[in-house]
Amino acid sequence: MPPRGGGPMRGQFLTEEEKANRPKVTGALLKRVFSYLTPYWAQLLLTLACIAVSSVLSLLPSVLTGRILDDGLIGRDLHMLIVLILLSLGVTLGANLIGVAESYLNNWIAQHITFDMRNSMYRHLQSMSQRFFTTNNQGDIITRMTSDIDGVQRVISSTFTTILSNAITLLAALALMYRENWVLATVGVLVVPLFVIPTRFAGKTRWELTREAQECNDEINGILNETLSVSGQLLVKIFGKEEHEYKKYEDANRRMIRLNIRESMAGRWFFVVISTFSSVGPMLLYLVGGILMMRYDADLSVGDVTVMVALLGRLYGPVNTLLNIQVEWIRSMALFTRIFDYFDMPVEIKNPDRPLRPAHIDGSVAFHHVDFAYDPERQILRDVSFRLEAGRSVAIVGPSGSGKSTMINLIPRLYDVTGGMVQFCGVDVRKQELAALRARIGIVSQETYLFNGTIRENLLYAKPDATEAELVAACDKANILDFIEKQELGFDAMVGNRGLKLSGGEKQRLSIARVLLKDPALLIFDEATASLDSISESKIQEAIDPIIASRTSILIAHRLSTILAADEILVVKDGRIVERGQHAELVKAGGVYTELYETQFKRALEAESVN
Ligand code: ATP
Repeated sequence: MPPRGGGPMRGQFLTEEEKANRPKVTGALLKRVFSYLTPYWAQLLLTLACIAVSSVLSLLPSVLTGRILDDGLIGRDLHMLIVLILLSLGVTLGANLIGVAESYLNNWIAQHITFDMRNSMYRHLQSMSQRFFTTNNQGDIITRMTSDIDGVQRVISSTFTTILSNAITLLAALALMYRENWVLATVGVLVVPLFVIPTRFAGKTRWELTREAQECNDEINGILNETLSVSGQLLVKIFGKEEHEYKKYEDANRRMIRLNIRESMAGRWFFVVISTFSSVGPMLLYLVGGILMMRYDADLSVGDVTVMVALLGRLYGPVNTLLNIQVEWIRSMALFTRIFDYFDMPVEIKNPDRPLRPAHIDGSVAFHHVDFAYDPERQILRDVSFRLEAGRSVAIVGPSGSGKSTMINLIPRLYDVTGGMVQFCGVDVRKQELAALRARIGIVSQETYLFNGTIRENLLYAKPDATEAELVAACDKANILDFIEKQELGFDAMVGNRGLKLSGGEKQRLSIARVLLKDPALLIFDEATASLDSISESKIQEAIDPIIASRTSILIAHRLSTILAADEILVVKDGRIVERGQHAELVKAGGVYTELYETQFKRALEAESVN
């Protein structure tokens, strides 16, 4: 019974999809692929030498068979016979040992190349903008990093060496055959297609049948899933479709058994064809060899003909493999193309060539007529201008989706403005060194992200060399110290995956402590919209009030208490600043703020007082 589904035939031919997406193999692509190999040229040369020697050595036993026959057996020389047999065994062992060295080298090179590739891909992905991560599927990014690069390893450790070793074996076998006798060698070459063509034909037929059987199987599973489920059966019963569904099932089932029978028989025929044709070649060589010896008195011995037959047997494998390798080659090139496409994605947010250092790191911010769009078709921010002086604080309020988070994303350059300019500490953010700029800004975002680890590890992420006293001070200021001290393991308590073991309020306070450790010149606090209970809220408020009072800060505020803590309020609607000022005057103005106050803040305040 030939193997089903995932058998060896599978993957030997290109699918329609692979044919349609066949990559263009250009000189530039090959050059780029080989550029990854060049650092390891010395090891590669050694591998090549190993492949060449072991391929040639593996042919020697076939040649020695001739001598064993002529000089040992027919020549009746026992000593020579033993020497030749030992030599043949020694050569086989030698070829195998060199093969082991080759595998090691090969693996070593493949691992090192993928190591380099993974690292540079990771670096490249780190330099990608937020836009890249929001528009690309996370699964795709991870696939590129893992299975695609693993594929490269396979290509290097298997495809390249398979091509090389088979090509060398093939050439060496041909050379030996022609050296022995050109007439027999030519006959041998002419019979190779007799073996190869039927093999490929039978292989393709079986592969197609397997695929068809697979499709049929999927169809049957679909029918079963649909009609034998609770709701499916109900539908069938109500509409009286039992007979109809049965016919559909029987039909698919019948097709399946026919395919199965054909597939098994194709497997059987496959063996008949291969064994017949592979014995045609040797027989033809014996015949032609015999004619040459008997009729033309050619200088040929029994051993010579036997050597030719043995060498012919060594041609089949490499020819077949090399014909199949084309598929692997195309797949490998597609793989490299996919990876290179990722590498070629431009870095959007770049470090300036000659960065400017602000004269005073005071955390001041200024927006000058800022326009911004995530996609060219949809403008998000329009002509936004405001100034936040050092040491002061501003609250940004506005309806959901009005562009508040977008505004603050422009300060650490998670995105770049499409018009106007954002200044930080008096210098355009695009002219500052990226890492230094980001180091000076602390963000407590709406969605607090904590790594799966201990509280201490999460805090040290902001400042790896922080002392215990600094950790305690930051947590105290962030109003989370009590909570940590109550934990059995204290700072070494685990936060769970993404901090899931903590409540929303605890997570926010922990991330406030983390930002405090970073001690940024500008603090941005994006208040969570999700409602926290009033105790959590007041704890957060208690934590941030003194922080706001002591440093330059921007607050995206949803709660009146937070808004009131700021020196100025900016009201944003549809990407514009529509009102600005103090709470009392804005409430009276009867505009967007008044509406927000009536619908959002006041109600929250009332709910709080009821609590
Ligand atoms: P909320 O108070 O609900 O957090 P917000 O005022 O902070 O809202 P933003 O997050 O700045 O609003 O979003 C402004 C607009 O930009 C929204 O319409 C949103 O759909 C859109 N937007 C936000 N992020 C992206 C993105 N990465 N790609 C495309 N559009 C985005």
